[in-house]
Amino acid sequence: MNYYSNQISKLIEELSRLPGIGAKTAQRLAFHIINMPVDQVRSLTYAISSAKENVQYCKQCLTLTDDELCPICSSPKRDQSIIMVVENSRDLAAYEKTGKFSGVYHVLHGAISPMNGIGPEDIKLKELMTRLQKDVSEVIIATNSSLEGETTAMYISKLIKPTNIKVTRIASGVPVGGDLENIDEVTLLRALEGRVEL
Ligand code: ZN
Repeated sequence: MNYYSNQISKLIEELSRLPGIGAKTAQRLAFHIINMPVDQVRSLTYAISSAKENVQYCKQCLTLTDDELCPICSSPKRDQSIIMVVENSRDLAAYEKTGKFSGVYHVLHGAISPMNGIGPEDIKLKELMTRLQKDVSEVIIATNSSLEGETTAMYISKLIKPTNIKVTRIASGVPVGGDLENIDEVTLLRALEGRVEL
């Protein structure tokens, strides 16, 4: 039996498709939205659709951005010869928050996972190799310390070795299986400073 109006049921159904939103939270959010002033609701829906329509991959590092080049890649203050490789834009944000990294990034949008059928060609590795044809002095691999992250790090280091570019891996101060985005800045900094050559 359907206790709610069709419109509310539909809203609950859509919200519950979002990650981390269970049925109960979806209900709570749906009722919250219904009780919000109409201009706030419009502003929320506009922010969602406009972000979806206008956000694109940075032409160089492939992070999500509003412009062709993200603010990091286009900043003259950043050292373009040091590239930190991360799994996703959230990890990039985590390192940016430390404010201590002055190089640029490369976002893979995933990690190699044979178990889930994700191979090297499914992440942005080709794009990384193309970037290495420019003047690059160091590639810091900052993938997560999960099985997938380690597999990806090994794969990348083997790929880069023949180019003679220095390849380093962030120190294992980052707990195994830990997502970079959940780790505090001090730990991230220690991992970065304690990086080892591969
Ligand atoms: Zn960029």
